[in-house]
Amino acid sequence: MNLEYNFQHRIIPKWVYTTPQFFNDLINCGEQTTLYRAAKKFYEDNNTEFPYKEEDYSGFHTRLDVDTVAVCLRFPTPAETPLCFCAFIFMDTKTNRLAYYTLEKGIDPIDSREMRFLCGWNNEGTHQEYGAYYVEKYNFGDIWLVRFFYGRFRDLRKDIGIPSQPKEENENTRVLKCPACKQEIIFDATDIKEGNELLVFCNSCGRIYHLKFENNEFLILNKIQEDKAEA
Ligand SMILES: [Zn+2]
Repeated sequence: MNLEYNFQHRIIPKWVYTTPQFFNDLINCGEQTTLYRAAKKFYEDNNTEFPYKEEDYSGFHTRLDVDTVAVCLRFPTPAETPLCFCAFIFMDTKTNRLAYYTLEKGIDPIDSREMRFLCGWNNEGTHQEYGAYYVEKYNFGDIWLVRFFYGRFRDLRKDIGIPSQPKEENENTRVLKCPACKQEIIFDATDIKEGNELLVFCNSCGRIYHLKFENNEFLILNKIQEDKAEA
């Protein structure tokens, strides 16, 4: 029995769907502490030496819209397939609907190359598969994942774009001054039309901004930040 597998693929999804205290602990005690304590206890309960340190776990949570909270859980770097790099819990705070999504280590069946897969476990214990995640293509990391799983959770018909970030300004670029750290966020606006929504990322302070292009202006709908210290 692989304890790490069971912890990430059996125990946590079970807690997500049946134990509200787990979600509350993640929010109130922090993702790192809660994950570390839970994993350590799980190993101890199974009479197995616990091989990880508290720093091997991390995470953050954020409100994505009026009714949606997302929690990111980062696990120790997966040594084997199909352990998870990270997982995301989404909660609809109005209906208490929950979802558990994972980014799993996998192997390309053709050339045995290491891959990452977008997956999840639903509340009936069924494994969901949403396709491959290409690190080199989606170099936005957590933003891309938050956006992808947010789309799954909300079944968004409208696409929330993630514009590229050109090194230099040109006629297609727009600049948003980060309200928090004042760094200029430069992004490519070539395909952005009136009414479109997009996520942009501040390289300086790590904040993500959910924008809407309206009346020829970029309105900030929401701010997403990894640092849980700031509410
Ligand atoms: Zn910033």
